[in-house]
Amino acid sequence: MSELTELILDRIRDVPDYPKPGVLFKDITPLLADPVAMAAVVDALAGLSQVDKIVGIEARGFILAAPVAYRAAAGFVPVRKKGKLPAETLKESYDLEYGSATIEVHRDAFTPGDRVLIVDDVLATGGTAKATVELVERAGAEVVGIAVLMELAFLKGRERLPGVELHSLVIV
Ligand code: AMP
Repeated sequence: MSELTELILDRIRDVPDYPKPGVLFKDITPLLADPVAMAAVVDALAGLSQVDKIVGIEARGFILAAPVAYRAAAGFVPVRKKGKLPAETLKESYDLEYGSATIEVHRDAFTPGDRVLIVDDVLATGGTAKATVELVERAGAEVVGIAVLMELAFLKGRERLPGVELHSLVIV
């Protein structure tokens, strides 16, 4: 196991039955609070690909994506839940276990052809990541990859993202 993998596994806390019974929540706050682990993660994510923009998915994706953008000398673009962005947006809806969710990006967030890396904390079913890829592409940018701290392999999110380069720092 690499030093980085060990550092991440050691600093992501499992919280059973949050936010509802049966879910094992992966809490990244211990990792965020550790400057050595945080720096290692940000450096690893920033070194993945040469990009123009880093997209962060609300909300925990923001915490990682902003320092990654700084480190990679790229711009930061937020993908937010419905109703949070002030200017004109593009919207993408996707199914959840119960009901659906809508995410948005500003229509003018990208320069046509921008190369983009999407960053989030956890890949579970892949629904959020897939919707984000579609949104970013509709906004005129090229998705060169998705990067997450942790991929929950048993939920098979990777299978919903064919043709997309998926970088998971840890797969459990
Ligand atoms: P999904 O669309 O199912 O891949 O879910 C991914 C989104 O939900 C990410 O933004 C994660 O932050 C969050 N998420 C889903 N499952 C978990 C989990 N077990 N622990 C922490 N975050 C999760």
